[in-house]
Amino acid sequence: MADWIQGKIVENIHWTENLFTLRIDADIKAYKAGQFTSLALDIDGERIARPYSHLSAPHQRPLEYFFYTATGGVLSNALVQLNAGDTVWVKDQSNGFFVLEEVPDCKDLWMLGTGTGIAPFLSILHTDEPWQRFENIVLVYAVRTESDLRYLDTIEALKESHGDRFRFQAFVSREQVPGTLHGRIPAAIEDGRLQQAVGLEQSADRSHFMLCGNPDMVKDVTELLKTRDFRKNRRRTPGHITTENYW
Ligand SMILES: Cc1cc2nc3c(=O)[nH]c(=O)nc-3n(C[C@H](O)[C@H](O)[C@H](O)COP(=O)(O)OP(=O)(O)OC[C@H]3O[C@@H](n4cnc5c(N)ncnc54)[C@H](O)[C@@H]3O)c2cc1C
Repeated sequence: MADWIQGKIVENIHWTENLFTLRIDADIKAYKAGQFTSLALDIDGERIARPYSHLSAPHQRPLEYFFYTATGGVLSNALVQLNAGDTVWVKDQSNGFFVLEEVPDCKDLWMLGTGTGIAPFLSILHTDEPWQRFENIVLVYAVRTESDLRYLDTIEALKESHGDRFRFQAFVSREQVPGTLHGRIPAAIEDGRLQQAVGLEQSADRSHFMLCGNPDMVKDVTELLKTRDFRKNRRRTPGHITTENYW
């Protein structure tokens, strides 16, 4: 049985007009990297709750979450106003199957995220398991504008720790930014630009894809990969594509 417990805001980092991070002290139960919990606030006498992926790895404290303030969104627009010392409800029990335990062994793990969908990947990458199980790990991070690219210091530190085994590719859809790919992930897989930029081929006998964030990206990449012999990963029929939709 999951309970609501009171968490305390340690820090609210306002990155841009639409992006922020909350660091929260809360004594929740153990979770797996890649899982989500629910956060809630009592607004006009009603508890408004939404799921949020842990960005912090299971051993990291405080807990950390990366948010987009959705246009007209009730909870995200209330969470963004919290300050250090304020309280927030946190479900003590985490959930979700977007975890490495569900991913079959293979050579290359591709992590494709849009916007705040980078969060579960950063949690997973700060555990030992991906580095013990996969030869190469590719993190692909797609945003609209350059200022939306966050956690680059964290990604740089991962590169320093893991060298050539870790490859990072940013996508910016609305601006031309040196060192990043322009446009959307599905198109760049279709014409081979992503594989070329990263320096790895994709094949059913070596690659697994974890897709997280915008449901259009998840759907379009899944449909494209299915035309190339990759299959959805299911418990009973292990495959190559593991997904998490944010809305
Ligand atoms: C498993 C899971 C994990 C999630 N993890 C995160 C997370 O780590 N960070 C996060 O910001 N959100 C995350 N979400 C989305 C989150 O639960 C809320 O939907 C979001 O914060 C909007 O809530 P709201 O009440 O402000 O607006 P709502 O009225 O509930 O939603 C408004 C609209 O905003 C858009 N939207 C929702 N989430 C996003 C987003 N992340 N980026 C861009 N547009 C969005 C959708 O079009 C949605 O219909 C996750 C969702 C799921 C299902």
